[in-house]
Amino acid sequence: MEPELPPVRGRLRRDVPLAPRTWFRVGGPARLLFTPADADDLAAFLRARPRELPVVPLGVASNVLVRDGGIDGVVVRLTGALAEVALVDGLLVAGAGASDRRVALAAARAGLAGLEFMVGIPGTIGGAVRMNAGAFGGETADRLVWAEVLDPEGRCHRLTRDELGLAYRHSALPAGWIVLRAAFRLTPGDAAAIHRRMAAIKAERARSQPLHVATGGSTFKNPPGARAWELIDRAGCRGLRLGQAMVSEKHCNFLINLGGARAWELERLGEEVRRRVRAATGVTLEWEIHRIGRPAPAEVTA
Ligand SMILES: Cc1cc2nc3c(=O)[nH]c(=O)nc-3n(C[C@H](O)[C@H](O)[C@H](O)COP(=O)(O)OP(=O)(O)OC[C@H]3O[C@@H](n4cnc5c(N)ncnc54)[C@H](O)[C@@H]3O)c2cc1C
Repeated sequence: MEPELPPVRGRLRRDVPLAPRTWFRVGGPARLLFTPADADDLAAFLRARPRELPVVPLGVASNVLVRDGGIDGVVVRLTGALAEVALVDGLLVAGAGASDRRVALAAARAGLAGLEFMVGIPGTIGGAVRMNAGAFGGETADRLVWAEVLDPEGRCHRLTRDELGLAYRHSALPAGWIVLRAAFRLTPGDAAAIHRRMAAIKAERARSQPLHVATGGSTFKNPPGARAWELIDRAGCRGLRLGQAMVSEKHCNFLINLGGARAWELERLGEEVRRRVRAATGVTLEWEIHRIGRPAPAEVTA
């Protein structure tokens, strides 16, 4: 029997397909998908929710592989009031649902430098804080002053950058904690020069990464002193395929869904890449992509 759910002001739906909402275009449904009206709505829901219901925040799912069995919990997505961007007391404060691109452009328009690297990262600020997203020599931790987060009991905490424990594509934020907003200290600069830097970053991304494909971005973290794509290339995995899942020819640390791949195929292909890299180079790659949810039943993946 479904547990009773508390009333909400936002949108709470059952059995919502997640595949169309993920960059990989794979994965089973969410038992519940909640888009809160605002932070109070979310906090009240968390306080009153049945405790057996796990909470899984998602941005635009550009760094997750949702497994085929879906998510047996409540997926929380932040929009509207939780995606606003404003200058407050000299800090750029961005709602966790705001896209990295919008935040980078807002900073540029205000003549503030420091977030140019975000312009081509296709995620949200919540995902950027959680993953310490970065590119082209910059990362979220560089300019972050604090982030407001809700714990799974609905209590709000303002955590400093140090308290968030940000490291390379990692934060110490426990599972189920939800970033609501983040504040960045930026440097006054020339808006035209900031826009030029962003244009150069976009051009470099177009040159080196597959665009307009179903992917989760970099699959594995760069191991200390090495680059994941070079190890994958050395192990002969460029272009490797399993069904409709493929290691990108253009950037071999990207897995791509050619159309109709299942999550288990992408995950198994990733594991095969790890196995071959370990055999060829002795290095064990660590997944950067978060794999979440229940696996497909065994009879599907056999
Ligand atoms: C084409 C492509 C290029 C990419 N390039 C880069 C790059 O250059 N640099 C880089 O760092 N990444 C890159 N990525 C990966 C991805 O865009 C980033 O990791 C991004 O920060 C993920 O944001 P998201 O909102 O989509 O998070 P999701 O993918 O939705 O979630 C990622 C993780 O963050 C958690 N999370 C999401 N929102 C919240 C929240 N509000 N509170 C708490 N936890 C939350 C999720 O539970 C999950 O564990 C790329 C991805 C793609 C597809």
